[in-house]
Amino acid sequence: MSSPSDPSSGRSAHLGVTRVASGSKPRVVVLGSSFAGLTTARFIRDRTGEDVELTVIDRNPYLTFVPNIQMEVFADRDPLATMLLDTPPIHAKDGNIFLNADVVDLDPDAKSVEVVASDRPGSAAETVCYDYLVVALGSRLAYDHIEGFGEYGDTVSSAYYGNKLRRRLAEYRGGPIAIGSARFHQGMDKKPEWLPVALAACEGPPLELGLSMAHWLTEHHRGDAHLVTLFTPAEMIAEDAGEPIVTPFLEMATSMGFGYLNKTEDVVRLDADGIEFQSGATLEAEIKIVIPDWVPHPFLKDLPITDELGFVETDRWMRNSSYPEVFAVGDAAAITVPKLGSLGHQQAEIVARQIGVEVGSLAPGDAGEQYHPEILCFGDTGGHKGFYIYSDVWFGGHKSVFKMGYAPYAMKLAFKEMYFRTGGKPPTFGVPATHLLMDHFPGE
Ligand SMILES: Cc1cc2nc3c(=O)[nH]c(=O)nc-3n(C[C@H](O)[C@H](O)[C@H](O)COP(=O)(O)OP(=O)(O)OC[C@H]3O[C@@H](n4cnc5c(N)ncnc54)[C@H](O)[C@@H]3O)c2cc1C
Repeated sequence: MSSPSDPSSGRSAHLGVTRVASGSKPRVVVLGSSFAGLTTARFIRDRTGEDVELTVIDRNPYLTFVPNIQMEVFADRDPLATMLLDTPPIHAKDGNIFLNADVVDLDPDAKSVEVVASDRPGSAAETVCYDYLVVALGSRLAYDHIEGFGEYGDTVSSAYYGNKLRRRLAEYRGGPIAIGSARFHQGMDKKPEWLPVALAACEGPPLELGLSMAHWLTEHHRGDAHLVTLFTPAEMIAEDAGEPIVTPFLEMATSMGFGYLNKTEDVVRLDADGIEFQSGATLEAEIKIVIPDWVPHPFLKDLPITDELGFVETDRWMRNSSYPEVFAVGDAAAITVPKLGSLGHQQAEIVARQIGVEVGSLAPGDAGEQYHPEILCFGDTGGHKGFYIYSDVWFGGHKSVFKMGYAPYAMKLAFKEMYFRTGGKPPTFGVPATHLLMDHFPGE
């Protein structure tokens, strides 16, 4: 692929307009190059070959492998050194144009987005035009909505915060530990009937953090699960995993000694001594690990493609109903609830086929299936063990598989290794193979 400054690249940036104009090919622009955006770009190339001009825009030239950061924290390894995947070489190999830029505005009527180069403060705004747009920008994880988080809070959703928790663990004095979620605010005005309402955005992480923390305490002779309380704003933690999984999980956690506080409504503030909740309840805690609200990026709010909060409204083809050339995948999409990377993977395949059909690379009969969400999640529980959850009960289905043991941990590690080694392209037999292995795995 030509470099951005190469005149033969077909791109020119003048009068503030970045023209992605190589002639007659439809211009597909993917906003975001993390789990959802990178996978969508991959599948669009697979489905359309050379039939489209594909531009991918992300402020960061790397992907942070968020799900495995906690493993690095408890092993006292720096996630900055191990969990970042360079994405520009992947796009270059696929013939995609990668722009390392902040997306600052979107005009669905003009079919354009405004971007500002993100590698140097003071860069000037440019306009990128599209024929098809995929919004895969994820969400803001709103720690800044929680009073006291900066000073007293911990989490594992970025390498920065992972390292902060490593330092906190190094100074741990043996006090109580609280782990749970703040309230998630889901858009309601365009919510389809079939989609349940979640009070927490993603509660696999508190489960795995709780179990891994208990293992870390034991391993370091600092105590055990009796020091850890799990909390949730909802009636039941990880409710999207389905009651048949969560009830036995809670029985097991209680028998191990974990504390449990539900219906907290929201996290109001953290201080040195603990957490105050919206419900009026409080928890004493030396370490306070919180998974926050998922909030749409501010520039998406009040656009005609989004709900009242700023999540992009789509149908089950991941297509916006008012602007059918606009798609959304991953956490930015309103129907991605809970906010789970594996749901974005399903959606990426759908969008790629939709665009393939639109540009004539695929026949209309090749559109595949609409979005039918299933929870697929591997969790780390410490001591080289993990859990596997596969369920659609929360969405009205009957699938419900929960396994614990060494195999889910090995799968979680192997997925990350495969993801990095293949440049975000784990083989397509990966998901069916996972089900074949894990659904019949007896557990340990
Ligand atoms: C602690 C934790 C553990 C998790 N564990 C799991 C798990 O085990 N399994 C699972 O399936 N899911 C897990 N998740 C959820 C998963 O991380 C998300 O669902 C997934 O990252 C969403 O992917 P995405 O591409 O939609 O958004 P993101 O991963 O948030 O990526 C958004 C991308 O857009 C870019 N971007 C954002 N705004 C702009 C802008 N304005 N301009 C330019 N670029 C921008 C970002 O740089 C980023 O690259 C976990 C989440 C957390 C917090």
